[in-house]
Amino acid sequence: MKQIRVRAAEGIFVEYGDLKLALDPSKPRKDSLIFVSHAHYDHLLESEHHKVLASKETISLAAIRGKVIRNPVFEVEGLKMLNSGHIFGSRSLLIKDEIYYTGDFSLRSRAFLQEGETPRCKILIIESTYGKEGYRFPSTEEIIDRAHRIISEQFSYGRPVILMGYPLGKAQVLTSIFSSWKPLYQHGLVAKINSTCVKLGLELDKEIKTYQEAQEKNMLERKPWVLISPMYSGRSAFISNLRKKYGAVTVAFSGWATDPSFKYAMGVDYALPMSDHCDFNELMEVVRRCSPEVIYTFHGFASEFAGYLCKEGFDAKPLSPIQESISRYVDE
Ligand SMILES: [Zn+2]
Ligand SMILES: [Zn+2]
Repeated sequence: MKQIRVRAAEGIFVEYGDLKLALDPSKPRKDSLIFVSHAHYDHLLESEHHKVLASKETISLAAIRGKVIRNPVFEVEGLKMLNSGHIFGSRSLLIKDEIYYTGDFSLRSRAFLQEGETPRCKILIIESTYGKEGYRFPSTEEIIDRAHRIISEQFSYGRPVILMGYPLGKAQVLTSIFSSWKPLYQHGLVAKINSTCVKLGLELDKEIKTYQEAQEKNMLERKPWVLISPMYSGRSAFISNLRKKYGAVTVAFSGWATDPSFKYAMGVDYALPMSDHCDFNELMEVVRRCSPEVIYTFHGFASEFAGYLCKEGFDAKPLSPIQESISRYVDE
């Protein structure tokens, strides 16, 4: 086995013999090949000259989010980009068939997303956003069923429903799942990302009007309707206005909805625990399937999850003291 080093600074760094890799670094590094797992802001960087390995989808989505990656590569010998099941275009990375970096990861197939891949490896570097016992999500079918019931009930009162999730990732899943409800509108920020995804091959309804367009044509007066929106607080001007004017009801989709306090913190009517990450049980399942000798945890409850793994007899350590200070309700 080659000399392998794994450490965290502004990203995660892996040295495997002569191969130097920076995984989702926040700043480019001259001496390393950079891997960008997906186009969420906490994983993106702007880079002029550095070689960046990422999926074609991630490169395009990064560009519309204002982070232009000028020197992308899509294949490197000894490195395999696998599906991480997190959002459209997201990838995990298998390094020399020995080290597996999950990036942000989901083990559930939902809408157009397939469950993330879990190859056997010696070293597993695994995200731990929900790596604390107690974070257990209901089945996706159950959550979707609850959402349909909420919409159906509110429609019977003639009330519009606003479905909220972060605009890259959750919004495409929501658009795909709930596009049977008509009329359906999408917020401009969601429309911009949806149309890029469609150009990249994702099948989404292309006829959906934007909220701004519906507003200009006085279509919102004809109630009820469904709006796919980025996540806003119920106290924001945008949502307050829609509540006052149309009696709209808000539904927020996030893994943090497992905490009863989330609904109140966000000031929404309903909060459903639909996530693009693994819950605690699923993280354990990833570890079992990959069956590694050594585990590094990062993101969210990194120390708690590593502690739990050690109790279960695994050799595990947390990697990211910096990222753990990120505000709790961010699950991009
Ligand atoms: Zn993410
Ligand atoms: Zn992330």
